[in-house]
Amino acid sequence: MTCLFCKIIRGEIPATIVYEDEEFLAFKDINPIDKVHVLIIPKIHTESLLACNEAHQSMLGKMLLLGSKIAQEQGLVGFRTMINSGSKGGQEVFHIHFHIYGGSDKLAKI
Ligand code: AMP
Ligand code: ZN
Repeated sequence: MTCLFCKIIRGEIPATIVYEDEEFLAFKDINPIDKVHVLIIPKIHTESLLACNEAHQSMLGKMLLLGSKIAQEQGLVGFRTMINSGSKGGQEVFHIHFHIYGGSDKLAKI
C-alpha cells in the first residue's frame, strides 16, 4: 500500500498523533493553516467521500463527533471542519480525512 495516511497508521511515517482508537487516528497536519489543525482518518482505507455509500454512514457519523471531541480537547471553543473530495474538490491525499482547525481570531479561508 503506497497510501501516505496508511503509512502513518502503520507507523512507517512519523506523525504527531493526538488521538487513536481501534477505528480512527487523528494527527496534526504537517502544514497547518491555523493554530490548531488536526486531520482525522479511519484506519480502514477509504479513498474519499466520493467513494462512500450507506455502508460508511456509521464511520462518517463517528468521525464527525470525534472531530468535535478532539477539537475541544485541543482547547478550541469553535472550529471549522473541511472535507476535500476528489482532485476537483481540492483533495491531495486519497485516504478520506476530516480537517479540523481553528484557534486564531480570524478563521483561515479555504
Ligand atoms: P487534502 O488537500 O484535503 O487532501 O489535505 C491533505 C492534507 O494532508 C494537507 O493539509 C497536508 O498538509 C497534509 N499532509 C500531507 N502529508 C502529511 C504528513 N506526512 N503528516 C501530516 N499531514 C500531512
Ligand atoms: Zn490509505
